[in-house]
Amino acid sequence: MDRALLQQRLAERAEAGYRAGQVWEWAARGAAGYREMTNIPTSLRAQLEQEVPFSTLDLVQEAKARDGTVKALFRTGDGHPVEAVLMRYRDGRRSVCVSSQSGCPLTCAFCATGQMRFGRNLTASEIVDQALHFRRIEPVDHAVFMGMGEPMLNLDSVLEAARALPDVGITWRRTTISTVGWLPGLRRFVDEVEEPIRLAFSLHAPTDELRSQLMPVNERYPLADVIAECARYFARRRRKVFVEYVMLRGVNDRVEQARALAELLDPKVFKVNLIPYNPTGMYDGSTSKAIAAFKAALDRARLPATVRLTRGRDIQAACGQLAAVSAG
Ligand code: SAH
Repeated sequence: MDRALLQQRLAERAEAGYRAGQVWEWAARGAAGYREMTNIPTSLRAQLEQEVPFSTLDLVQEAKARDGTVKALFRTGDGHPVEAVLMRYRDGRRSVCVSSQSGCPLTCAFCATGQMRFGRNLTASEIVDQALHFRRIEPVDHAVFMGMGEPMLNLDSVLEAARALPDVGITWRRTTISTVGWLPGLRRFVDEVEEPIRLAFSLHAPTDELRSQLMPVNERYPLADVIAECARYFARRRRKVFVEYVMLRGVNDRVEQARALAELLDPKVFKVNLIPYNPTGMYDGSTSKAIAAFKAALDRARLPATVRLTRGRDIQAACGQLAAVSAG
């Protein structure tokens, strides 16, 4: 819901100042529409129905994976595709993975999102509406900015959205923003953000040479500079930075590369998430044996590491698979 538009329309009608808050509270708690808002006069509800779309996004399609993961494809008012995912874990956690852009201007070699056309930055309302969509299905308690797009290229809207999430039931400590290491945004994130929002860094290679092959953005913002910035985040917030490392067979999964990774990363600052590669047609994923050997090398070097659970692969909802191609 576009809350600025809501306030504007309420002000035009000289409605009491608290009405905007009431409407938002209903929406944030998972109401399906204005008709449920029993403490708002019927005539006002009808008016809002006409003038302020309940969501800035239209749902185009929804798919459910065998593991319970739900992927939603939306369209913005001006027709741009956006995907978001609800991940359900056995321990009861409900995590929403939201997109910050329609498509992505970066072209990481292994990621499907970079293959589709880049649309535009999403507004804060368009980001929050992804979470609200899932909140209408069930209560949610974690959010990751790991859908389509690079959050640090759209930092103002991403932060505005993140700041609204506690009303939806997702605290800042349970909110993670992931970046390729886009330094201008990352610097601002470190310097300006007071909220205890978590940071994840998509690393994927232990050297500049290999990383530049996989992620062209590395030519612009080399590893040492981004790692220094992550260290500054840790120094200021005392919260570890998650490193994402997607395991590509024969590319970045050798034990020597694990050792190089352990040399590169300070175990006080970083915690590594090894991500099984989700097929997007461009690479082969590492074998589970290779992943286990890689992790064992990190363990020996005392660099904290876990292997991420893959969710939603059968509906193309897993990391790197969001490309707004409807499953038909
Ligand atoms: N642009 C930001 C936010 C997206 S996060 C970023 O890159 O951090 C999505 C994560 O999934 C990133 O770590 C990305 O590198 C990873 N990823 C991309 N393609 C993948 C694939 N095919 N399999 C597994 N992970 C992938």
